[in-house]
Amino acid sequence: MKFEIVIAGGGFAGAYCAKSLAHYLGKSGIQRVGLIAEQNIMVFQPMLAEVAGASLSPLDVVNPLRQFCRGVNVLRGKIQAVNLEKRQLVLDAGRFTTNITVDYEHLVLAIGSVVDLSRVPGMPEHALVFKNVGDALKLRTTIINRLEEASLESDRDVLVRLLTFVVVGGGYSGVETGGQILDFVNDVKHFYHNLERAKIRVVLVHSGPRLLPEVSESLGRYAERKLRQRGMEIILNARVISMTAHKVFLNNGQSIETCTTLSTVGNAPHPVLLDLCKKYRLEEYKGRIVTEPTMRVKGHERLWAAGDCAAVPQGTEPASPPTAQFAQRQGKLLGKNLALCLRNENPQPFRHKNLGQLASIGHKVAVAEILGVRFSGFIAWFIWRTIYLFKLPGLQRKLRVMVDWTMDLFFPRDVSLLLPTPTKLLAEMHLEKGDVIFHAGEPAFSYYIIKQGRVDLFDGDRRFKTLREGEHFGERALLGDGKWHFSAIAAEPTTLVSVSREAFDTFYNSSQTFRDWLEKPEAHVGHEFEKEPDRLSGVER
Ligand SMILES: Cc1cc2nc3c(=O)[nH]c(=O)nc-3n(C[C@H](O)[C@H](O)[C@H](O)COP(=O)(O)OP(=O)(O)OC[C@H]3O[C@@H](n4cnc5c(N)ncnc54)[C@H](O)[C@@H]3O)c2cc1C
Repeated sequence: MKFEIVIAGGGFAGAYCAKSLAHYLGKSGIQRVGLIAEQNIMVFQPMLAEVAGASLSPLDVVNPLRQFCRGVNVLRGKIQAVNLEKRQLVLDAGRFTTNITVDYEHLVLAIGSVVDLSRVPGMPEHALVFKNVGDALKLRTTIINRLEEASLESDRDVLVRLLTFVVVGGGYSGVETGGQILDFVNDVKHFYHNLERAKIRVVLVHSGPRLLPEVSESLGRYAERKLRQRGMEIILNARVISMTAHKVFLNNGQSIETCTTLSTVGNAPHPVLLDLCKKYRLEEYKGRIVTEPTMRVKGHERLWAAGDCAAVPQGTEPASPPTAQFAQRQGKLLGKNLALCLRNENPQPFRHKNLGQLASIGHKVAVAEILGVRFSGFIAWFIWRTIYLFKLPGLQRKLRVMVDWTMDLFFPRDVSLLLPTPTKLLAEMHLEKGDVIFHAGEPAFSYYIIKQGRVDLFDGDRRFKTLREGEHFGERALLGDGKWHFSAIAAEPTTLVSVSREAFDTFYNSSQTFRDWLEKPEAHVGHEFEKEPDRLSGVER
């Protein structure tokens, strides 16, 4: 595939850049612009807390990119690597396809940031994160699950843990989501008759001296007072230093018994961006790629960046704030700048004055600072809802949200458990003689270990090997081109342990010993049919 302009990322910056380009390029946009995004939706993150709190449905806060950016070609896939010299990127397009190479003339980086909890022991395994719609649904489901479990529990200690919800981080996400959790549990508690007299705790832990450091001190204090009045426990000047499945430990010596912790901290630079900066010695500022005011990356004529992954100068500051407000406006201007460049005209510098900040803290209360004027309470909440309704892209979404918000005023929140049980990372499977495990040419999803029995491997009709108990296969397909190069059929009643690609990847990335061992050809079966896997031969992914 080849495009004049490839936009990497379909968030605020990427989607608005694509929309703006489509406007300037007209019908030719479909051929000239490719928008790559891991999901085919643009997520309106400022409203995610309302999804977690069951005030809004997940569909209310997303916009299909194919509808939102109609005039460009949308490619759904995960960018694996970027090669600036060849002006090429490699895209993982999904389970049933092989990687795709996309060529470009100009590349826009708008891939946002990621969450990395690895610095706090126990957090990656036990904490929930809050970045996309799936996370919001997972949080909602987890809270409902805890209430369901608690309603059947009689052990007091277990009950306390089940009914304590900890939110880490007192910025926008933490305060808004904490407020929503509080509203949700208070709203639905009466549906759980066994819990009528039980105490439900929502504890917010923040490392700073006051909540919402993004707004003025008086508004931050106001939010704290209001949340405390409604029963939220707020611990300031404390950091989580570790956690287990049942407990959160703080640096002030305190610990909290809980089974549910939400982390809203741990924003980290995108690994694709970090790799790129390292490989091509691109300047970065706090994990964001440094650009000129026009959003062109310094020293690279055809590389551009916007949004959370970019450090676009803002007045005397080296980078504008990582907010939707800035990402959206940068995206819009960047689309225009690229259109100007295609016409050999000069791009324009980005200039935008922060219009203000808004945070809804639940229970029809918000804090707002707009153009220097401060509001709080119901009026601020009303302004919050009006502004976000106005900002939400698409008339259909706006109407849906209006209906949901109106219903929310009159009806209780929904406690339906919607999220299915996640796929198992490890599974055992039983096969009878002759059962086919896979055919050559099919995509590979698993690594297999033979627990019992025998498996025959075939090259066409020729059986070239029989594997027995304790032997394994599949690693080369997972590390290589993602396809099977032989067929596998059970030679007798056989039990296999299948390890999912995700689990295998985690193991592979965590253990040097495992990687060293896999470098040896004798560690593999069927290698005579496969090309050398990329990851084994050290080729960039
Ligand atoms: C819970 C929450 C609440 C927030 N509330 C507010 C608020 O109230 N007000 C405000 O102004 N800001 C808020 N923000 C911040 C705001 O959402 C971000 O600043 C904004 O989304 C940044 O836009 P972006 O386009 O740079 O990145 P994002 O919106 O994060 O988009 C990144 C895009 O890149 C794609 N991507 C990432 N990696 C790859 C890859 N390898 N391959 C392909 N595609 C990839 C993603 O799928 C996504 O489409 C909030 C953020 C969160 C998480």
